[in-house]
Amino acid sequence: MEALKVKNQELESILHIANHDLRTPLVNIAGFSGELSKSFQDLQKTLEKVDDPWELKKELTEKLKEDFSDSLDLISAGATKMKLMLDGLSHLVKAGFSAAKIERLNMNILIGTLLKTIRFQIQQAQTEIAVEELPDCLGDNSQINHVFLNLLENAIKHRDPSQTGKIRVSGRMNNGYSIYCIEDNGPGIEVGNLEDIFKVFYRLNPAKNNGEGVGLAIVRQIVNRHNGKVWAESEIGRGSNFFVKLPNHKKNLDLMGNNTY
Ligand code: ADP
Repeated sequence: MEALKVKNQELESILHIANHDLRTPLVNIAGFSGELSKSFQDLQKTLEKVDDPWELKKELTEKLKEDFSDSLDLISAGATKMKLMLDGLSHLVKAGFSAAKIERLNMNILIGTLLKTIRFQIQQAQTEIAVEELPDCLGDNSQINHVFLNLLENAIKHRDPSQTGKIRVSGRMNNGYSIYCIEDNGPGIEVGNLEDIFKVFYRLNPAKNNGEGVGLAIVRQIVNRHNGKVWAESEIGRGSNFFVKLPNHKKNLDLMGNNTY
C-alpha cells in the first residue's frame, strides 16, 4: 500500500512537470516558428517585388541575417532544452521502475572505486577529497553507486571557485541504519531552498550552471525506494552537507515493488 502511494506521488510529480516545465521551451519554439513564418512571407514578397539581381542579393542577405538567424538559433536552443528535459524525465521514470537487487555493500570499496572513475573531474576541479572509514549498508549496488556519484559530482560542480574545493565523506551507524554525509565547502544553499533542490528540474542559479536539475530528484527516488532518507543541511557561505540514510539491518529493509534481497 505504501509502495503504491509512493509510486502515485512520483507519477503525479512527473505529470506536473511534463505539463508545466516543458511548456516554456515549447512556447519559445512556437513563438519563434511564427516569427520565421512571417520572415518567410517577407522574403517571398521581396522576391516578387525586386527585379535587379544585385538589389535582390543585398536585400535577401540582410533579411536572412536579421530575421532568420536569430529565430533558427532560438528554435534550436528550445528543442535542445526539451530534449535534455525529456532525457532527464526518462532517466527518472527508469530509475523508478528498475527493480533493486539488495545486497550488503562495502561502502569503503564502493566509494573508493567511484572516486577512481571521476579522478579526471577531481583533478580538473583541483578538489581535495577525504574519505573516512565507512560502515556498510544494504542496497542495490548500481543504484547506490548512482546516488553517491551524483552527490560527489554535485559537490565538485557546485564548488566555490574562489577557494580550493574540499569534500569529506563520512558515515556512522544509528539504530540499524547507516548515515553517510558528503560535506563540501561550496557556496552553500539557502535554508528555504533545501527541500526544493530535490524537486525535478529545480536549479538554483540556472544561469551559472548547466545541469538539468533531475540529479537530486533521482537520488531521492532511489533512496526512498530503499526505505532510506536523503536530505541536505546548509547555510549560505558555509558549504553543504548531504546526508544519506540507508538500512544496515534487514529489519529496516521494507522491500517495495519487485525488489529482492
Ligand atoms: P543539477 O546539478 O543538474 O542542476 P541537481 O538536481 O543535482 O541538478 O541539483 C539541483 C540544484 O541543487 C543544483 O542546480 C544546485 O543549484 C543545487 N545543488 C546541488 N548540490 C549542491 C551542492 N553540493 N552545493 C550547492 N548547491 C548544490
